[in-house]
Amino acid sequence: MKKPVIAIDGYSSTGKSSISKVIADKLELIHLDTGALYRGITWYALQNCMDESGSINLENLFSSLPLIQLEFRNDGRELILHLNHKDISKEIRSNEVSDHVSLVAKQKEVRDFLLQYQRSLAEKGGIIMDGRDIGTVVLPNADFKFFLTASIDERTKRRYHELLSLGIEAEEQQVKENLIERDKIDSERDIAPLKQAEDAIVIDNTSLSKEETIESILSYIQKI
Ligand code: C5P
Repeated sequence: MKKPVIAIDGYSSTGKSSISKVIADKLELIHLDTGALYRGITWYALQNCMDESGSINLENLFSSLPLIQLEFRNDGRELILHLNHKDISKEIRSNEVSDHVSLVAKQKEVRDFLLQYQRSLAEKGGIIMDGRDIGTVVLPNADFKFFLTASIDERTKRRYHELLSLGIEAEEQQVKENLIERDKIDSERDIAPLKQAEDAIVIDNTSLSKEETIESILSYIQKI
């Protein structure tokens, strides 16, 4: 039986990636966290493409894209993002990357650069991909599409605790402002904005645990 292609989109810190990872393990699928790719490019820009005023020089970034090689390597437990052969899985979660990623992700050049890579990974099926535009743009023919949402306070709490568990200092109010700002830029951009696909199943997990959200998603997939 052909394994399914599953798209999980939604707002920041609704648990998309950690939920997708568990579902991938259960159903023996590949999991691709597409946000990590945008974060990887942002990290590269912060290291290599800054102008004197401390902003990212986008033209410089666009001309550097061919120099960027992103690759997920399996360390036996999970997929670790490497940029030009360096493990950057911790760096991409930094506050600095979170503060700049939506500006980088709204650029057509950046989205085009990542689009084919994402689609090529889904060609053989058996994949769960999470992001913002998976069900609408990257994989419009996915077998299952889910759109996750939750209240801003609940999402702030989750992101705050995630950062602390990674050893990254954070203030709750700043975390909240970053989520609001990113969701706004992501939803209002011209290319591939964050929005629910018409045929997506919406799950508001404000008062659901991670396990309950997973059960809910699996109940739709296993019905077939
Ligand atoms: O999922 P995560 O919060 O790590 O994503 C970081 C950022 O990457 C998002 O805020 C968004 O700007 C961008 N992104 C995107 N399209 C995707 C995945 C992420 O624009 N498919």
